[in-house]
Amino acid sequence: MSDSIFTQIIKDKIPSSKVYEDDDVVAFLDIHPINKGHVLVVPKKQYRTIYDTPEDTLAKMMIVAKKLATAIKKAVKADGINIIMNNDPAAGQMVTDHVHLHVIPRHIGDGFREWFGVGTYNATEMDDYAEKIRKAC
Ligand code: 5GP
Repeated sequence: MSDSIFTQIIKDKIPSSKVYEDDDVVAFLDIHPINKGHVLVVPKKQYRTIYDTPEDTLAKMMIVAKKLATAIKKAVKADGINIIMNNDPAAGQMVTDHVHLHVIPRHIGDGFREWFGVGTYNATEMDDYAEKIRKAC
């Protein structure tokens, strides 16, 4: 796989504003933030999506996301924090060759609309979907 834009950032071939780095994970400011202080948490080793990323790497990413959520909330006086991972273009993943977590500071009334809870199930559908997912696990 050729170097993703994030690997180029990790290798300092592209400038970025880094806020955290350890042996496995880097975090830097998103160039087009939802709100100022929006950070991307990226593994140093390049995986495409959650599906091909090892569990221990995902765990490390989430541990760093927790540290940064706490720091960002304090630093920008956020009212809340969203932690989001987009997988595949259908889910909004634009950088499709390097998995990443968004840590996004939120402010009351900031206008970034949530998409949760707009769908409905009919009487038996919830059980059907739960069964499909259990079988696929
Ligand atoms: P995705 O849609 O893949 O979940 O999010 C990719 C994010 O990467 C976007 O929010 C976008 O603004 C950010 N991004 C893309 N290119 C660059 C870049 O060169 N530098 C930085 N800091 N962020 C980038």
